[in-house]
Amino acid sequence: MHGTISCSVDSCSYNQEGVCNASILNIGGSGAQITEATSCETYLKQSEYSNLAQTVRRGHTDTIFCSVDTCAYHDKQHCTLKEIEVGCLKDVDDYTETDCLSFERE
Ligand code: SF4
Repeated sequence: MHGTISCSVDSCSYNQEGVCNASILNIGGSGAQITEATSCETYLKQSEYSNLAQTVRRGHTDTIFCSVDTCAYHDKQHCTLKEIEVGCLKDVDDYTETDCLSFERE
């Protein structure tokens, strides 16, 4: 069980006032050397899907799967941190533009 995942990607269906509502997260970016090479593959574009995911108020994420094997917090395809921060500095149109801001190069 993980804690609250803060997320600034407000165009995502799972984002509810800066908190991720997805029960399972998939963070991608195998071999990443920089934060920008990581991404949240769970991102669901709200304008194409719906904001149905926001109707369930969860406020926590159960599992964080992660393929960023170059991160200090990576262990056996999972993240060992209780909480991570997901975001992006620009407007997000596609999941590849999201980043795991908690990434720490090992
Ligand atoms: S902190 Fe590291 S191990 Fe955890 S989700 Fe982000 S990139 Fe993956």
